[in-house]
Amino acid sequence: MVAELRVQRTTRKTTKKTIALVPTMGALHEGHASLIRLARRRADRVIVSIFVNPAQFAPNEDFRLYPRTFAADLAALAALNVDLVWAPAVETMYPGDFATKIVPEGPAQAGLEDAFRPHFFAGVATVVAKLLIQCAPDIAVFGEKDYQQLKVIARLARDLDLKSRIVGAPIVRERDGLARSSRNVYLSPRERAAAPALCRVLKECAAKIAAGQPINDVLAEGREAIADAGFALDYLEARHADTLAPAASTMDGPIRLLVAARIGNTRLIDNVGV
Ligand code: AMP
Repeated sequence: MVAELRVQRTTRKTTKKTIALVPTMGALHEGHASLIRLARRRADRVIVSIFVNPAQFAPNEDFRLYPRTFAADLAALAALNVDLVWAPAVETMYPGDFATKIVPEGPAQAGLEDAFRPHFFAGVATVVAKLLIQCAPDIAVFGEKDYQQLKVIARLARDLDLKSRIVGAPIVRERDGLARSSRNVYLSPRERAAAPALCRVLKECAAKIAAGQPINDVLAEGREAIADAGFALDYLEARHADTLAPAASTMDGPIRLLVAARIGNTRLIDNVGV
């Protein structure tokens, strides 16, 4: 219950302990664990939320199938010494008469994830705003794995004068470079073997751009390489690392390369800095 959370939260506040929140959708893996460890280093107390948020899935997306491993998640969180797990029911977050939606603009309209998942950022912004208000943390940690999401949430916190500082955490990868993701369990052995191509191509493109090759040529080659590896590409883009505005040259500021592509029925995203 939100009221119980508030009591717990207030008790911690009155003891002058700083609080970090790590929002997740569960099916926890090493990527989540690294966020929790970062939260631990930055705050006295750590809250982890687990909520598979229906509002950020389109009807044709994988809400029903999304992996749910609650018992294993609780054990992992206990081992990580998390102080509080906030796992609200859908009805707690969205009672029947729920009627409010936050629709972010700016980085949420960059023509990246938003172009392929039009529901996504309104769902994310609404639930993250609720989680930040419910838990009122001093900091909230989000992964760079979801790079556009991190930028959207940082802007949301600023625009709504929320007191929580948004902290980004680096991407955790498998040994072969594949970014850790709860959705990696969907990959068949053949798809799993092909999947590291995404990260490999990103790194090759970043090296070429850093060496001065024209961005558009590099991206065109990268798009081909991703298709050759068996992916259907949604986008491979070079963007300003902060504003997500298109970047035509390294003169346009720090650059981030972002990719989304589908292999079989699974959609993967990844990104690297140049
Ligand atoms: P999710 O449970 O997929 O919604 O992710 C919860 C948080 O963990 C988000 O802030 C993600 O960006 C972050 N995250 C997921 N995978 C990784 C990863 N491989 N490395 C770093 N952070 C991650």
